[in-house]
Amino acid sequence: MEKKSTNQTPDIAIPPSDLGTLDDIEIVYYPDEVLRQPAATVKDMGDSLRATIDRMVFLMRHARGIGLAAPQVGILERFFVVQVDNDPVYVFINPSIVGTSHETGVYEEGCLSIPGLYADVKRPSEIQVQAWNENGRPFTLNADGMLARVILHELDHLNGVLFLDHLSDRKREKLLQKYRKPEDSTR
Ligand SMILES: [Zn+2]
Repeated sequence: MEKKSTNQTPDIAIPPSDLGTLDDIEIVYYPDEVLRQPAATVKDMGDSLRATIDRMVFLMRHARGIGLAAPQVGILERFFVVQVDNDPVYVFINPSIVGTSHETGVYEEGCLSIPGLYADVKRPSEIQVQAWNENGRPFTLNADGMLARVILHELDHLNGVLFLDHLSDRKREKLLQKYRKPEDSTR
């Protein structure tokens, strides 16, 4: 997920020489079909997955995002990374929502795969999510506010769902009239 505010300071500085590490991973943009496919359960939580997760965290920060799901880099597996402001990075592998509040909230969302478009989306205010972390350890997390919203947004990606799908047809069509798919990727 992308945060609209432009006054957020990136929490790491990226030396130009490090940009080369992004060469083998890049963001897939709407309307790429991979964003519409349901992702498969992760079966091997080993070193290769951890390396991919590291690169995704790097890419998410580089793109000034606060969440990035595997399908957004063309990997159809059920995991995503989240970092809201100065919170720690959370890694969610094979996540499931085990509880949601009746209370909902509305907030303007964006998406790294749909640059330039933002819209209000209604979601549950609080959730309980169960997942495995990058070390293969299961955990349960209670989240609210922005963290809950990002988790729900990223979890949607694992099911081929985009924030646009939460809008009325009319609103979505109007919004998409403004959309231009980027020519180049992350550079
Ligand atoms: Zn997104």
